[in-house]
Amino acid sequence: MIDLIPFVDKYQTHRGGYSVFLRCTCAACGHPLFVYQKDGPGPLLRCYWNRIRINIGAGMDDGLSCSACERQLGELFQYKDGRPAFALNEDALKTEEMGESVVLDILDAKSKPAFH
Ligand SMILES: [Zn+2]
Repeated sequence: MIDLIPFVDKYQTHRGGYSVFLRCTCAACGHPLFVYQKDGPGPLLRCYWNRIRINIGAGMDDGLSCSACERQLGELFQYKDGRPAFALNEDALKTEEMGESVVLDILDAKSKPAFH
C-alpha cells in the first residue's frame, strides 16, 4: 500500500495551500493513466511533471500518451516558472476526485521515467 500525501512546496502555497488527488483516465478508451496532485482551484489545463504522483498507464517519454490506445494526450513544455509540464490536448483526460490524501494498492503503480 502507498499512503499518498500532497507535496507541500511554494507552488502549492501559491495556489492556496491545498491540493486534491485526481484519478486521471484516458477520455477515449477509459484506461487508467495516473494519479495527479492538483494544487488549488480551477480547471486542469496542464499536468506538471512532479505532480503526476503515480503513473499507472501513461506514456511519458515522448509527450503524454495512453499506453492502451496510444492516443497522444499532451505535449511536454516548460511552464513559465521553469517547471516541466504537459500541455493537455482538449478532451484528453477524464478526472475523478479521490480526496486530499489517498491510499493506493501498490499494484496500481508503475515506475515513472526519470525526467530528462
Ligand atoms: Zn486510451
